[in-house]
Amino acid sequence: MSRARIYLSPPHMSGSEEDRIAQVFASNWVAPVGPDLARFEEDFAKKIGVEAAAAVSSGTAALHLALRRLELEPEDEVICSTFTFCASANPIVYERARPVFIDSDWDTWNMDPNLLAEELKEADRRGKLPKAVLLVDILGQSADMDAILEITDRYGVPIIEDAAEALGSTYKEKQVGSSAWCSAFSFNGNKIITTSGGGMLCSNDRKLIEKAKHWATQAKDPGHLYQHSEIGYNYRLSNVLAAVGIAQLEVLDLRVKTRRRNFDFYFDRLAELPGVSFMPEADYGLANRWLTVARFDPAEFGANCENVREALEEENIESRRVWVPLHRQPSFQGCRYRGGTVADEIFADALCLPSGTALTETDLDRICTLIEAVAG
Ligand SMILES: *Cc1c(COP(=O)(O)O)cnc(C)c1O
Repeated sequence: MSRARIYLSPPHMSGSEEDRIAQVFASNWVAPVGPDLARFEEDFAKKIGVEAAAAVSSGTAALHLALRRLELEPEDEVICSTFTFCASANPIVYERARPVFIDSDWDTWNMDPNLLAEELKEADRRGKLPKAVLLVDILGQSADMDAILEITDRYGVPIIEDAAEALGSTYKEKQVGSSAWCSAFSFNGNKIITTSGGGMLCSNDRKLIEKAKHWATQAKDPGHLYQHSEIGYNYRLSNVLAAVGIAQLEVLDLRVKTRRRNFDFYFDRLAELPGVSFMPEADYGLANRWLTVARFDPAEFGANCENVREALEEENIESRRVWVPLHRQPSFQGCRYRGGTVADEIFADALCLPSGTALTETDLDRICTLIEAVAG
């Protein structure tokens, strides 16, 4: 008799996807090429406010293509946030370079600009600057772009912005993903909009986007022959999925509103409980609140985040711990790390609460009541 499962962040269709897919089938552009791909890229670039965009099979692929453009060598370093999903840093290793992980600050949970400045200063002194900074907008909150750019511009180090979670968020009234050299977005099933799987690389550097499209389609030389001067990948997004993306993009603003409503609901109900706090929102922008993340201080709350997770799970409700910091991951053993314990402390007591945009107020109320009951 258990009720239907409440997932952490499930897909939420707008309703017009099926019509668009039917049109794709009628025209037979059921391939990783076609008019919907071009239209999705155009609509997306316009929304973000960049010159060009390349639609690919995942956010990870978008990051990989951007890194490939840097022509990395085995000893090269790329700086990355430690408080993020592994997909931010994995493509650095695909390109045989070394990630260097940096801790977050308490105000934004994003890369701490002071630690980045220290790292670049020392790297400069050593005579070997990193080839890029892979900057993440974590949980949908923009990094402090102006502060970070001011530092990286001093050394001429480009920024690849991992905006996979932050579509629709703003930084000083600009869309997230418009200020760095390039930015990557994800349309995985759990993101704020989805194509079931997919990604987008955005940039004002048209040459980068042109190269990315070339590499994403096996890097075939111009002409009718299967001749290849470079190694490429099969990374292009399907035209069918681009049609889904067009429909999803139309409801993005609505989805941001609803995610923020979720956050406000949780905050209004739970923030007053002893030992409960939430991810702060910086005053330089509007976070999309992709996931609502609450922290539970066991000494004051009387239970820890794992107790809350288990209590929700018993009611068939999914919640998730945040990522194990990347400098703690066995897969990144031996990588350099700069920072203190911010990411560790967030990991220790934070929980991602159900944040889907189809949640009703009844669902939210039920989840809050269950959490209140866990409090000691
Ligand atoms: C989801 C995600 C990615 C990867 O996107 P995919 O489309 O799943 O490959 C990269 N970075 C972050 C921060 C993410 O949340």
